[in-house]
Amino acid sequence: MASVSLTNVVKAFGAFKVVHGVDLDIADGEFVVLLGPSGCGKTTTLRMVAGLEDVNGGEIRIAGEVINDRAPKDRKIAMVFQNYALYPHMTVRQNMEFALKPQRLSKAEVDAKIAGVAAMLGLDVLLHRKPAQLSGGQRQRVAMGRAMVRTPEVFLFDEPLSNLDAKLRTQVRMEIAKLHKQLGTTVIYVTHDQVEAMTLADKIVIMKDGHIEQIGSPEEVFARPKNLFVATFIGSPSMNLFRMTAERGDTGTVLSSPAFSLLLPVELGAKLKPGQAVTLGVRPSDVRLAQAGDADAIEARVEVVEYLGVEALVDLRIGTQEFIAQIPASERPALDQAVKVVFNPAGLHLFDSESGQAL
Ligand code: ATP
Repeated sequence: MASVSLTNVVKAFGAFKVVHGVDLDIADGEFVVLLGPSGCGKTTTLRMVAGLEDVNGGEIRIAGEVINDRAPKDRKIAMVFQNYALYPHMTVRQNMEFALKPQRLSKAEVDAKIAGVAAMLGLDVLLHRKPAQLSGGQRQRVAMGRAMVRTPEVFLFDEPLSNLDAKLRTQVRMEIAKLHKQLGTTVIYVTHDQVEAMTLADKIVIMKDGHIEQIGSPEEVFARPKNLFVATFIGSPSMNLFRMTAERGDTGTVLSSPAFSLLLPVELGAKLKPGQAVTLGVRPSDVRLAQAGDADAIEARVEVVEYLGVEALVDLRIGTQEFIAQIPASERPALDQAVKVVFNPAGLHLFDSESGQAL
């Protein structure tokens, strides 16, 4: 096991800078997910750790040692690629043996390692097959097995589940989580899938345009997003946003817009000045239908109702303002009905409308 740290790491392809001075500390045994939209630089960052791209500035350390100029095979890392990168002419056993070649082990040691990993991943019965004779999920498992036999100090995963269908993806995701628990090896895992990030990560690193927007546990990035980008990137359906102006009311700070007004809890109101332009964020799961006696209910019209079994997603409209409520399916209203909704006071997020930073 080993820690990994990136200090002011920069990468450019020609004049095009794609990683802008990234700082990241990963502890021994930690499972870190790099998450962000396509093109944000997460794969490039991973490939620099792997030694598959050179670093144009800054330092990468593994177990405290700067490894910028060290060859990939000398970094004690193993990478699992999106397309598995298995040798098609070799059997599963030969693919794993090949990964062990640089270690110059005895035949008995190689056999023992392969047997151990094969048992852990359920590959025993597949050892004599070639990649073409395997399903997608089995190939994925072989790719992991090939990385595991090398007993690396750090595992790097580049979107390892993206070629699997939805059901298999959930299954293999759980297997990866179990393996990490068992092996305790440091993992850096790249994905653009927030469900993978939320379920696997100890720590999520959210990237955009070659910058890190926020680093935090799944709970932190969900409950306390640092800015509008993180707020809308994490969570599905996306957080509802309302452009509002802060005003001093008789009983406290009120947010108002042409669509509705809302009295803020005291501690949130204290963050604002009268006249300040703010963006109010409310997750769909923090919007519920009002009950008799609810103060501050907001009237809206039902535009679309999506029934999902346990829950329903309700598209609501107030004038030109649209937003979504995620409510128990049993409570779903009829189309075109006027309903009253309330926002969970603990689920209100405020952002500066200009900078997008959380207030
Ligand atoms: P995705 O999820 O689509 O893989 P990503 O976040 O992993 O995206 P990267 O693959 O790291 O993004 O790419 C970051 C940027 O660098 C992109 O704009 C990409 O086009 C560019 N890029 C990547 N590799 C090269 C290369 N070899 N030459 C030139 N530009 C590159």
